[in-house]
Amino acid sequence: MGIKLVVLTGAGISAESGLRTFRGNDGMWEHENIEDVCTPRALRRDPKRVMDFYNFLRKGLPNHQPNAAHIALAELEKRLGDDFLLVTQNVDNLHERAGSKRVLHMHGDLMKLRCMDNSDHEFMFDGEETLETKCPFCGAKTRPDIVFFEEVPFYMDEIQAALRECKEFVYIGTSSVVYPAAGFKSFAKSFGAHVTCLNLEVPDNDPYTDVSIQGKATEIVPKWCESFK
Ligand code: NAD
Repeated sequence: MGIKLVVLTGAGISAESGLRTFRGNDGMWEHENIEDVCTPRALRRDPKRVMDFYNFLRKGLPNHQPNAAHIALAELEKRLGDDFLLVTQNVDNLHERAGSKRVLHMHGDLMKLRCMDNSDHEFMFDGEETLETKCPFCGAKTRPDIVFFEEVPFYMDEIQAALRECKEFVYIGTSSVVYPAAGFKSFAKSFGAHVTCLNLEVPDNDPYTDVSIQGKATEIVPKWCESFK
């Protein structure tokens, strides 16, 4: 039997844990320039600035705790087992800390670094990355395990396979404007999935979303998870 439920989460699920979203009021991009910290050019031009930005975010993570929405998804996963897949655009580790195991970080993971020479070399890392940090597999230079703008997200084959076979696709706390994640709902729908949106704002006239529930993630996600059969 294949995957029954695919969940996509975005920055909105972590907002009530005190992590800034990207685009809302006081969003991260109002404080940082994308061009300085989140593009391949930035990494070539000033790798230290890029590393320091992600060092700062990584160092702050222990101050933020998983909230009721992260916990409800981890509990739903325990109930559904291999019928469940969580795809997150978030680079924080709140899903894992809530107990989720079947998580794909399509935009990367703050708690990992990658080798500059071999993209298969990735490793867990909870310290401060510097220009001297070396890949433990081959000794090459490293970079944050973050998918920058203009780079291809991770796990696309696995995600597409899951979207093709799922019965339900639910997207939570995402503004649904960043592709390819923004296209998952239409893709899943074209293969027969029922599509649900759980978000603070309701999407306008979205032809692919069957049900839209508006509210704070900590209130609507636990209720939705409990009712999922
Ligand atoms: P986004 O900032 O574009 O949109 C966030 C969405 O969440 C908005 O639609 C907003 O209405 C909704 N929202 C805000 N507070 C909410 C709450 N309490 N409950 C429910 N919904 C709420 O975020 P996105 O769509 O994930 O944007 C994509 C990019 O943002 C990704 O690349 C992702 O990597 C990145 N991002 C990640 C983090 C993180 O790891 N925590 C934080 C900021 C941005």
